[in-house]
Amino acid sequence: MASELKDGLARCSEIFQRARRIVVFSGAGVSAESGIPTFRDPGGLWTAFPPDQFANWASILRLVSTDPVLLANFLVALLRPIVSARPNAAHLAIAAIEGKEKAVTVVTQNIDGLHQSAGSTTVIELHGSLFEVGYVRSHETWPVSSDALKRVLQSMEQFCRDRGSAAAFMEAVSPLYGKTQKGIYLPRVVLFGDFLPERAWEDASYALKKCDCMIIVGTSQVVQPAGSLSELATSHGAPIIGIGPEPIQCDAWLRGSACEILPRLVEAMPPV
Ligand code: NAD
Repeated sequence: MASELKDGLARCSEIFQRARRIVVFSGAGVSAESGIPTFRDPGGLWTAFPPDQFANWASILRLVSTDPVLLANFLVALLRPIVSARPNAAHLAIAAIEGKEKAVTVVTQNIDGLHQSAGSTTVIELHGSLFEVGYVRSHETWPVSSDALKRVLQSMEQFCRDRGSAAAFMEAVSPLYGKTQKGIYLPRVVLFGDFLPERAWEDASYALKKCDCMIIVGTSQVVQPAGSLSELATSHGAPIIGIGPEPIQCDAWLRGSACEILPRLVEAMPPV
């Protein structure tokens, strides 16, 4: 093991001696090794589908009538990796921290549901989930199954081949987007310009104010306000462990991929 990593893990081991309440703050990088590309890294979604057009609902919904084929291509690119993804060694290691007699809250920016699939019991989804749909003008929501998402993906792939009409698009996308007497329903996913779900933000802030260790993994922290949540941990002296290929401001930085580092980090925890 490289000495840089060995020293970092030794420092983490000391932190874990005192830590009882851990917050894991995750971003797209934690799911990269499950085959879901980050949006910003080279080859990510934003390369082919620029965020000014595809990261806000008004612009996306305009495409239903102006260019449904382009929108269907975007949905295929978004859904294809997520519907077939499985939790990776990093998600599983995070879930395993709960077995170390630590209270663990996972605060994630991801919309892929993989922390829950891995067995983490307290997961706060700051940016919502692709597996939940709800009305724009009410709090009514309902789950969308993985099978339903797979059917939407297949319909979208077919639609791209047939180059269908806006009406055909609406039919194909109806498990995720449509209109009833109660109004328009959409995936409960936070895009640029949207407010974060109030309850999720409050719960995440509370967990960070109370934690005695924060682990940050797979996020560039450029998306705000989520990116500034670490200030709540530092404000009361909770040490921060950072994991990823790029250094971040933290007390112990472990360079490497989430799948490479997180299982080692769990091994570095004192035995129960
Ligand atoms: P980001 O794209 O801004 O940053 C990803 C970070 O992960 C980068 O710092 C990168 O260096 C790092 N990274 C890449 N591969 C890694 C690996 N194997 N192990 C560890 N780190 C790795 O992502 P973000 O900060 O999460 O913000 C982007 C937004 O896009 C978020 O709001 C998120 O909801 C959304 N998003 C979600 C998913 C998902 O649900 N899986 C995927 C892409 C983007």
